[in-house]
Amino acid sequence: MLSDIEIAQNCTMLPIGKVAEKAGLLEDELEYYGKYKAKISDDAWKRLKDEPDGKLILVTAINPTPAGEGKTTTTVGLGEALNKMGKNAIIALREPSLGPVFGIKGGAAGGGYAQVVPMEDINLHFTGDMHAIGAANNLLCAMIDNHMQQGNALEIDPRRIIFTRVVDMNDRALRNIIVGMGGSVNGVPREDHYMITVASEVMAILCLATSLSDLKKRCGDILVAYRYDGSPVFARDLKVDGAMCALLKDAIKPNLVQTLDGSPCLMHGGPFANIAHGCNSIVATRLALKLADYTITEAGFGADLGAEKFFDIKCRKAGFKPDCAVIVATIRALKYNGGVPKEELNTENLNALKAGCVNLQKHIENIGKFHVPVVVAINRFPSDTDDEIEFLRHVCEDMGARYSLSEVFTKGADGGIELAQMVMEEADSGKSQFQMLYPDEMPLKEKIETIAREIYGADGVTYSPSAEMSLKAIESLGYGNLPVCMAKTQYSLTDDPKKLGRPTGFNINIRTARVSAGAGFVVCETGKVMTMPGLPRTPSAFNIDVDADGKITGLF
Ligand code: ADP
Ligand code: MG
Repeated sequence: MLSDIEIAQNCTMLPIGKVAEKAGLLEDELEYYGKYKAKISDDAWKRLKDEPDGKLILVTAINPTPAGEGKTTTTVGLGEALNKMGKNAIIALREPSLGPVFGIKGGAAGGGYAQVVPMEDINLHFTGDMHAIGAANNLLCAMIDNHMQQGNALEIDPRRIIFTRVVDMNDRALRNIIVGMGGSVNGVPREDHYMITVASEVMAILCLATSLSDLKKRCGDILVAYRYDGSPVFARDLKVDGAMCALLKDAIKPNLVQTLDGSPCLMHGGPFANIAHGCNSIVATRLALKLADYTITEAGFGADLGAEKFFDIKCRKAGFKPDCAVIVATIRALKYNGGVPKEELNTENLNALKAGCVNLQKHIENIGKFHVPVVVAINRFPSDTDDEIEFLRHVCEDMGARYSLSEVFTKGADGGIELAQMVMEEADSGKSQFQMLYPDEMPLKEKIETIAREIYGADGVTYSPSAEMSLKAIESLGYGNLPVCMAKTQYSLTDDPKKLGRPTGFNINIRTARVSAGAGFVVCETGKVMTMPGLPRTPSAFNIDVDADGKITGLF
C-alpha cells in the first residue's frame, strides 16, 4: 500500500469553492487561502444560526499505543461513508501541531484512504492559525516582562507569573529557562517556561469562544500572575486583550478543507487533550451542525480524557447534546493494554488481546455514564489476524456492544458503510439522553473525585500540598463553578502510563492545580504530564524533505 502522503498527493482535489457549495456555504462566505483551503466568514453563522441542528457524533478511543489508534482516520472515513450513502455529513476536526509532525506521531489529517487534503499544507502552516495563537500568547508574555521593566506599577511578583511563553515545536530545552539576563536594559531576570502552543490557554480560548467579542473578553480574563500582596493580575490589567484579539481575528474563523473523496471538513483549533480540553472549536462544530444532518467530530487521546472533556467542557460550554459516540478500538492497542510491548504488537497474541479487552469494556461503560449510545469501530490494521478479529467480535457481542469492522484506512468510504449505517441508526434513535458527569455547582474537589472514581476507576484522590492550596485559592477567587480539565497521561486510566488495561486499587494524585480563567476551566495536573514534549532519538524530521519543485516527502 502507498504511504499516506503518496495517497494524498495522488488525489485530484476539488476547488474549495465546490466543496463549500456541497456543504451549503455561499461563495460570499468564503475567504480563500489558495485553491484548496478557505476560511469561512461569520456571515455563514449569521445566516444559519436559527436553523435546526443536525446530529452530533463523537469519535473517541480506548487507551492508545504511542502511534495513535486511528480516531482521525475513522472520523474521516465515517463522514465519507455517510456522504457516499447519500446522507449529508460534515467532519469537524482539530488542526495538527508541528510538534508531533516532526516528533513521533506524525500528522493529524487521517491516514490511508481516509485523509483530509491538502495534507502537507494542513500538517505544516495551514492557514496560519497556530502562528496567530503563538503570537497572541507571546505578545502577552512580552507585555508582562515589559510592564516589570517599566516600573512594575501593578507590583507583579516575578516569582509568581503563571502565564508562559509558547512555541509550536517539541523543544525540551525551553521547558525551564531564565529570561531577562544581560543587565538592566534587557529586562527583569526571572524563571520562565515554554509550553507547546497547543497546550496554551489561548488555544483553549480560541476553541471555546463563541464570537470575536467573547474571544476578547476571555483574553482579558486570563489570570497571568499574582502581585506581591497575593492578589491576581489579569491580561486586561496589562491592557493587552485588544491587541491579542486583533492578532486572532482571522484565526477564529473555521477552515474548510476536503477529504480524499471531496467531502467537506471543517478543521479548526487544536488543543492538546492532556493539558487542554482536546476538542476542535465550538464555532466550527456549531456551524457544521447547522450545515449538515450529521456532524462527526473527534476528541483527542482516549475516552477517559478526550470524551470526558468533550462532554463535560465543550458540550457544557456550547450547549451541545451529542447523539452517538464511536469508540475506536484496535487489536494493537488492546494487546498493548494486555501487556505486549510495542515492538511485538504485529504478532498474533490472543491471550494478550483477551487481557486487554477490559480496557474497551471500561470505556464503553464510561460513555454510558453520559447516557450517549455507543458503537465500537474496530479499526483494522494490516497486522491483525483473522483469529484476532473473530475473537474481538465475540468479545463485543458478549459485552452487548454494537460494533463494526472498519476498513476505511484501506478502502476509504467503502470500508466504513456498515459502521456508518450503525452510527446513523444510533444517532437517529433518540436514545441519547445526554447528561454531564457533574453539575457546575459541585465543589472542585468533588468534581475531581467524581471524574477519578467514575471515569478512571480510582479508589480516591490525593493532593500535593501545593495543589491543595491552589484549589482553595481558586475557589476563593470565585472560580469554583468551573469544570475541571484533567491533565493526565493518555496511556493509562491511572496517572501512571505503565499501568495498562483496567487497573484497580489506585489513587489519582493531583500535583498542581491552576485556573485557566479565560478558557473557563481549572487544570489539574497529575503524574508527570508534559506541557512541552521532547523529540525522540529518531524524530520524524529525519525523513521529511522537499525536492527542487517543492514536492514534500516523508510526512505521514
Ligand atoms: P488518532 O487520531 O487516534 O491519533 P490517526 O487517525 O491520526 O489516530 O492515526 C494514527 C496513525 O495510524 C496514522 O499515521 C495513520 O495513518 C495510522 N493508521 C490509522 N488507522 C490505520 C489502519 N487501519 N491501518 C494502518 N495504519 C493506520
Ligand atoms: Mg487524531
